[in-house]
Amino acid sequence: MRHILPVLLLIFLGGCGQRMHEVDQTEMGFGSYIRIRARGADAKKVGQAVQEAFAEMRRLDTLLSLFTNGSDVVRLNNERRLLVTEETRELIRKGLALGEEAGGVFDITVEPLVRAWGFYDDSCRVPDSATVVQLRQRVDYRQVMVRGDTVVLGDSVRIDLGGIAVGFAVDRAVAILKSDGVKEGLVDAGGDIRVFGDRVWRVGIKHPRQQGLIRVLKLRDRAVATSGDYERFFEQGGQRFSHIIDPRDGYPARKCAAVTVIAPTALEADFFSTAVFVLGPEEGRELVARQPGLGAFIYSVVGGSVRELKVGRCDE
Ligand code: AMP
Ligand code: MG
Repeated sequence: MRHILPVLLLIFLGGCGQRMHEVDQTEMGFGSYIRIRARGADAKKVGQAVQEAFAEMRRLDTLLSLFTNGSDVVRLNNERRLLVTEETRELIRKGLALGEEAGGVFDITVEPLVRAWGFYDDSCRVPDSATVVQLRQRVDYRQVMVRGDTVVLGDSVRIDLGGIAVGFAVDRAVAILKSDGVKEGLVDAGGDIRVFGDRVWRVGIKHPRQQGLIRVLKLRDRAVATSGDYERFFEQGGQRFSHIIDPRDGYPARKCAAVTVIAPTALEADFFSTAVFVLGPEEGRELVARQPGLGAFIYSVVGGSVRELKVGRCDE
């Protein structure tokens, strides 16, 4: 069931004394919440734009989900060769290109490993090392081929777009709001956020080991995403195992507690936060520093306390 939270309509004065209306609506989606705040002079138009943006996010959630029967991803994993929707194809293409850019630490075919560690159904368990070695052979993004409108999967490869799907959907929602005339706004899908317009928005970053925030960012016309080991994890033998897997060894990545990336688009923020989380602070900072316009806060636990590494352009 889809839970719809109350829609708030606020009226206030904008920059030039003009009456502005804000629609603030939250729904469930992408396994978490989606909040859209949109501002403009015409309340009705802003309201319609917000409904359209939500509809698009619902559509993409269904299309790209690993857990919805009939989604492009579920069908492709079962049928191995599939004529997919344009958006699915575009995201797979991007996922492959980004995987290449990250030198294989980001891999959209990580599905068999994430499944073996029990993160899809919360059965969380440490697989035996022979299983990990065997499943690692099945993870290889080069076995995914896009041929015209069709995507073809090589032998025993399965895809999971979870590392980038939310960012992609946030960008699509922002594009709809803008083309519908919304002047400024924010789309937040479970912490993957993009803000647009002239206004500066304050966005909090959760502390990876305590209640509350570790930082508050001021952002104008940018996106931010966080990958953290506190989001989905289990502990065994005093060790923490979290949902982002290093495809090189098949084990959950352990070098970071959290990575927040600030980027021009939500897709980039989503991708880089996951990739840097696998790489760890040292190599991760190099990857971020190579991209103009990107910033990151990389958190790791050293000697029991949280250490912060700031890289690149992080504010506004
Ligand atoms: P995020 O929360 O954006 O960091 O994405 C985490 C999700 O991406 C996981 O729940 C998996 O579905 C998927 N994933 C895990 N490890 C990887 C990886 N190395 N490359 C790409 N996707 C991954
Ligand atoms: Mg991500």
